[in-house]
Amino acid sequence: MAAQQPEVSLSPSIKDEARSIACVICQAVYVPSLRHEHLLLAPAALESAFMGMCHFCFRCRRPACPECWDDVHGVCGRCGSESQLPFRRDVAPLSSQLVTASRQAQLERETAALLPVAPLVCITPGPFRRVLIEQRATAPIPAIVQSMVSRPGWRGTTQTIPAVKIDEMRTRPEAKSRRASSFRRIASTLLSIVLVMLILLIVAASISENINIFIASTLHVDIRAEIAYLWQLITQLF
Ligand SMILES: [Zn+2]
Ligand SMILES: [Zn+2]
Repeated sequence: MAAQQPEVSLSPSIKDEARSIACVICQAVYVPSLRHEHLLLAPAALESAFMGMCHFCFRCRRPACPECWDDVHGVCGRCGSESQLPFRRDVAPLSSQLVTASRQAQLERETAALLPVAPLVCITPGPFRRVLIEQRATAPIPAIVQSMVSRPGWRGTTQTIPAVKIDEMRTRPEAKSRRASSFRRIASTLLSIVLVMLILLIVAASISENINIFIASTLHVDIRAEIAYLWQLITQLF
């Protein structure tokens, strides 16, 4: 297996008067980051820093840079493509799809966390970055979305449906809340009118005996007697 690529050199090539270094597998070009510009003083330091970032591919016995290392399969991207493995993607078709996605997200977070302290930064990505982008664009639709799409009531494309949903979300609660608030306003107005009328009746009945008799004859409520009874109850309690 290792003898398949005898023509390729085994050490990364230092380019551009030792200002950058290229991966032997994917030809991605790296330069020292701002914090590690001292690496430019010695080509050996640049090379050893680059090798420190690489993974050794045991299939082709070459160092694979972070751009072309396939951590899912443990080989470089070129060896993976020769073995027809999808780059950094699991081939198992069952529920491992989700596990792979979460693992990939975790790996991306780890890579992002490492990037600021990495001694070298990639300025020219190799062909495997494009493979990753294409894989994401053609990634299989998750099972939940597929079940939504295959439902009998489903119409239209995924681009139009969110627009409709946003419209519904904007208008419906507004209409409901407007109706509810107007009802609440009317009810509170009516209740306050009734309360004011009751207070006026009680005050008028306690001021004038004639008004109390009038209310008792019309509404059959003797307000003075009721107040006296209430007062009696209160004085009995204390
Ligand atoms: Zn390899
Ligand atoms: Zn590479």
